[in-house]
Amino acid sequence: MGRTSKDKRDIYYRLAKEGGWRARSAFKLLHLDEEFKFLNSDVQRVVDLCAAPGSWSQVLTRKLRGPTGQENENVKIVAVDLQAMAPLPGVTQIQGDITKTSTAESIVEHFKGEPADLVVCDGAPDVTGLHDIDEYIQAQLLLAALNITTHVLKKGGTFIAKIFRGKDVSLLFAQLKIFFKEVTCAKPISSRNSSIEAFMVCQNYSPPDGFVPTMANPLLNCDYDAYTNQPEGPNRVIVPFIACGDLSGFDSDKTYPLQLEDGKEYVYHRPTQEPIDPPYKEACRLKAENMLAKES
Ligand code: SAM
Repeated sequence: MGRTSKDKRDIYYRLAKEGGWRARSAFKLLHLDEEFKFLNSDVQRVVDLCAAPGSWSQVLTRKLRGPTGQENENVKIVAVDLQAMAPLPGVTQIQGDITKTSTAESIVEHFKGEPADLVVCDGAPDVTGLHDIDEYIQAQLLLAALNITTHVLKKGGTFIAKIFRGKDVSLLFAQLKIFFKEVTCAKPISSRNSSIEAFMVCQNYSPPDGFVPTMANPLLNCDYDAYTNQPEGPNRVIVPFIACGDLSGFDSDKTYPLQLEDGKEYVYHRPTQEPIDPPYKEACRLKAENMLAKES
């Protein structure tokens, strides 16, 4: 397989490299914003959970701090991930597991009482292929993100999180509805149809009266009984679902020719940001050593 084959198969992968985005996921946040307009001048403090390699942080910096990320220095962005991430101007990084209390505490600490306007979470576990387990872990990541959000988000703020649209989606929707006035399940055009991924866009944070966020009581207990999992009658909710992004734009499941514009030469672009600490780096080192040994 040549190095251009992924460029042919995945238009958003190719456009991401051309636009200097670290990952094709950038388009998902851009398409969500086209629909919901949450990246506006009122937003000063943002938390980007599960942020590596950093394309959502790039979107946040370009949209909120200006094209070079240096123009509007009042905007503060905190990016959190298990993995280390190459630095970005204006983005403070915290390396940690969002399901751990210690990570949640460092994020809360970072804000020193000044609430965030927006929390986004594109967290995804390493999928096992066992759908029930993958959906369950994904839901736990979302709940961990929601728990952090209840500590840092200002009233009226926005929370956006990736979900896998499985059988528990109504339960998650019901849990999010406790905290937000509007909750919509959205699928950007750049998210492949073949993937069960979608995003919960939760607007207007308004926790129940008397709600006190607590690390000691995270929303992570797995006490899903038959009733909460299978709501009946008036408790059964239909989750609002909307497709977004310019729907006449590129279809993320389609293969496109490399030449899209007449007279313009196709140019191969290397990935914008190579992985900084990939698990295969030892194999690359050994391969380079072998090649050197053969040459000498
Ligand atoms: N939004 C990112 C971007 O635009 O570049 C892509 C995020 S990638 C799809 C999912 C990320 O979730 C991975 O970098 C992974 O390390 C992170 N992740 C998964 N579980 C996590 C956890 N428990 N705590 C922190 N990060 C986690």
